[in-house]
Amino acid sequence: MLEIRSLSMRYPGGTTALSELSLSVGEGVLGLLGPNGAGKSTLMSILATVTRPTAGTFLWEGVDGVEHPLAVRRVLGYLPQDFGVYDKLTAREFLLYLGRLKGLSGAALKSRVDHLLQLVNLHGAAGRRLGGFSGGMRQRVGIAQALLGDPKLLIVDEPTVGLDPEERVRFRNLLSEIAHGRVVILSTHIVSDVEAVAGTIAVLRAGRLVCRATPEELLSKAAGRVFAVVVPPDRLAEVQRRLAVSSLSRRSDGVHVRFVGDASALAGAEAGSASPVEPTLEDAYLLTNLPGAA
Ligand code: ADP
Repeated sequence: MLEIRSLSMRYPGGTTALSELSLSVGEGVLGLLGPNGAGKSTLMSILATVTRPTAGTFLWEGVDGVEHPLAVRRVLGYLPQDFGVYDKLTAREFLLYLGRLKGLSGAALKSRVDHLLQLVNLHGAAGRRLGGFSGGMRQRVGIAQALLGDPKLLIVDEPTVGLDPEERVRFRNLLSEIAHGRVVILSTHIVSDVEAVAGTIAVLRAGRLVCRATPEELLSKAAGRVFAVVVPPDRLAEVQRRLAVSSLSRRSDGVHVRFVGDASALAGAEAGSASPVEPTLEDAYLLTNLPGAA
C-alpha cells in the first residue's frame, strides 16, 4: 500500500536526517524504532506531506505522494509529536471543530464524533474541558482527531511520551483495535511500545534503515546471542565497557548483568561463567546496533 523509495532529507543547516531510505509497508501496525535523532519524526512528517524530502519519494497505492500531496492528505490521519489542544474547549467541541475543518458537517459529523469518543473511551469525559485532561486523555483526543476522516494511513509520532504505564497499555490496545484495514505507522524509542502491536518493526539509525523484520524474526535472529552473568559490584564498570548490556539488577550475590553479542567479550574473572538466556525484543533491538547484526 505504501512504498517508500530512496527518501533523503537534508535540513538547511546541513543535518542529514534521512539517507536513501526505502521500505514497503502493508496493512497493520509498523513500529518505527530508533534512538532520538534517528530520523523517525522527519520520515513521518514527509509521509504526512508536511515536509518535502530533498530526494526520493513515496507512493501511496501507486500515487506519488511528494508530487501529489493532496491525494495522500485525503487518506491521512496524523498525530504529530507536538500535538496541541485548545484547553478551553471540551473534548466534544474540539473534535467537532476539527471535523468541520476536515469538511464534515451536520449529523454525519456529530455521529462521527460520538463514535470516536466511544472508541477512545472518552465518552464519559466528552463535556469536560481539555485543560483538565491527563496526558493519556489528551493523547486519546489526539488519536480521535487523527481518525476523524476515517484514514487509510495513520501516522502517530511518539504517542506514548509522558504517559504512565497504565495509559501506555490502554493506548497500545487502542492502536491494535484500529489497525485493521489501515496502514498504521507508530514511531517510538521504547521497544515495549511496539512489542504487542506491531506486525513489522523497522529500525532506524542515523537516517538509515538498519533492519526490517517481524518481531518473531528479530527474536529468532537474537537466539544464542543473549547471556546473563553475575559480577561483583567493583567489576561492573569494566564489564559495562566491554559488553552491550541490556539490563542489570543489583542483588545480594552481585550484579546480575544481561548482555547481547558475544560471550567471549567477557574477560578476567567472569570469563566462561556467562549462561545463555531467552532473548526479549529489547535484546533483539540492541543487537541491531552491533556490527554485522542487522
Ligand atoms: P527522531 O524523530 O528519530 O528523534 P528527527 O527526525 O527528529 O529524529 O531528527 C533527525 C535529525 O535531524 C536530528 O539530527 C535532528 O537534530 C535533525 N533535525 C530534525 N528537525 C530539524 C529541523 N527542522 N532543522 C534542522 N535539523 C533538524
